[in-house]
Amino acid sequence: MYSMLFVRCLRKIPPMSKSNSSNQNQKFQTGKNHRHSYLKPSGGRTNLMRGPVYDSIFLRDSCTCELCVDPSTKQKTFQTSDIPADILAVKELGPSKTSVTLKWQNDLPGYPESHRTRFPADTVNRSYADWQSFQRVKQDERVRWDQEKMLEDVKYIEFDDWMHDDHGLFAGLQMLDTHGLLFLKNVPPSEQSVEVIISRIGSLRDTFYGRTWDVKSKVDAKNVAYTHQFLGLHMDLLYMANPPYLQLLHSLHAKAPGGESIFSDSLLAADTIRNTDYASFRVLKNLPVLHHYKNDNQHYRFERPTFEMRSLQGLGNVRGASGKYARNMMDYVNWSPPFQGPFIFPNGDKKFREYHKAACMFSDLVNSESAIFEKRLEEGECVIFNNRRVLHARRAFDPSKGSRWLKGAYVDEDVFRSRLRVLTEKYDPHGALQNSFFLR
Ligand SMILES: [Zn+2]
Repeated sequence: MYSMLFVRCLRKIPPMSKSNSSNQNQKFQTGKNHRHSYLKPSGGRTNLMRGPVYDSIFLRDSCTCELCVDPSTKQKTFQTSDIPADILAVKELGPSKTSVTLKWQNDLPGYPESHRTRFPADTVNRSYADWQSFQRVKQDERVRWDQEKMLEDVKYIEFDDWMHDDHGLFAGLQMLDTHGLLFLKNVPPSEQSVEVIISRIGSLRDTFYGRTWDVKSKVDAKNVAYTHQFLGLHMDLLYMANPPYLQLLHSLHAKAPGGESIFSDSLLAADTIRNTDYASFRVLKNLPVLHHYKNDNQHYRFERPTFEMRSLQGLGNVRGASGKYARNMMDYVNWSPPFQGPFIFPNGDKKFREYHKAACMFSDLVNSESAIFEKRLEEGECVIFNNRRVLHARRAFDPSKGSRWLKGAYVDEDVFRSRLRVLTEKYDPHGALQNSFFLR
């Protein structure tokens, strides 16, 4: 809500020609336009209707003084809806050229006459810098990969580096962000290791499969994963409203021959379809597909399109290439044939044929020899992959010739993003600024 408001306002601001630092000494002044008061850089356009302006309500809402944001909890102490519509920002004259102080006419009830809102110039300019950064963010920074590309880029991180070196952890999380696939090696042969690995990111995602779960061949399996058969490319738990983002699989036993893991980048396939057959792309982004799990006293179901595009309400009118790009951004791909439920189509509806054609195209692309990255998980290795992007599969194995045992667990996207943001701010502040709006 906050950033949306911010952007809605910033949208009106023409780009500044110089970088953030060169604006440090800019003076600010308020102007009046009918009922509203505005704050604008004095170096900007003078036409209040067209120039860079900040609305009084917006400015009041942005106050971060100790009365408005609790210093301990960092929580906002008032509601945006508490701000009177007729509030007016009045610039207090002072000697400072590097900050602006505002006092308020018709402030929120209960605020003292002495309430002041101070914006250091770099905070005001920071919003310009953010805006400029956004304009530079013209392309999706996720790296599309096929087999050849992943053979070049594949990353193995030592368990010890993951655990004890924040740079190692950051490198791993960045790889997950850009490629959605990462391997750890020399992981201790303990059933607790996946939980220990996740503790570096945050809390794990519990599901009805348990906090962690075992992938072993079982008699009477309730899920095809728990057999020794070939398991085709899929994603996990798409029948849930919020499917897990990261999946971890730690190899504890790898004595049985076979059972190689296979990974494929769904974004690459989606791009190919977008660029070669837009009608099919449209079908896959519009037609909801049901995934369900009804078994063993559980009944989950959820419908979503194969290609899940980002909805950017409030940002849809952003002009320029970046706005166009933002509207076309794909957040997730949803593909899990073993858990697909029945479609409901009226007899003879041609949409089903269109879906069938598009689904064949997608399946052929992700399964093609050149697309798949195959890797046998040896004992002591752990794979981490983005379950909302990277498809995974497993070749059949022979359980009569030895045991195969993987320990698995999930992590939610929020948990992953939080850790990545904290580490990005620490080690790559410029990246943090760039990513603050649009790239998740
Ligand atoms: Zn305040």
